[in-house]
Amino acid sequence: MACTERTGDLVAWQLGELHGSEREALEEHVRGCTTCLHEFISLKRDLELAEDGPAPSPKSRLDLRDSVMKEFGFLPAPWWERPVAFFVGTASVVCAILVTTAV
Ligand SMILES: [Zn+2]
Repeated sequence: MACTERTGDLVAWQLGELHGSEREALEEHVRGCTTCLHEFISLKRDLELAEDGPAPSPKSRLDLRDSVMKEFGFLPAPWWERPVAFFVGTASVVCAILVTTAV
């Protein structure tokens, strides 16, 4: 099935209406197809913004983003595995120790 023919499946998946082997096949495809991944994310965004009701809270948006990332196996690295975060965290602890021992 061509990527352009998967939009209906992506909508069904987003709505939780795609099950069994069809769901597994689509998930497998989306993991390796950036076109469909972008289409799915765009679809989710369109569905979220299509309603006239109140916008989701920032926390809801982050939770949604995290769930999408988790769905595709793209979880961000923990903070201790990110060099900048590790350096800043370590530097903060060292500074705190220096300040408290200097007083
Ligand atoms: Zn595709």
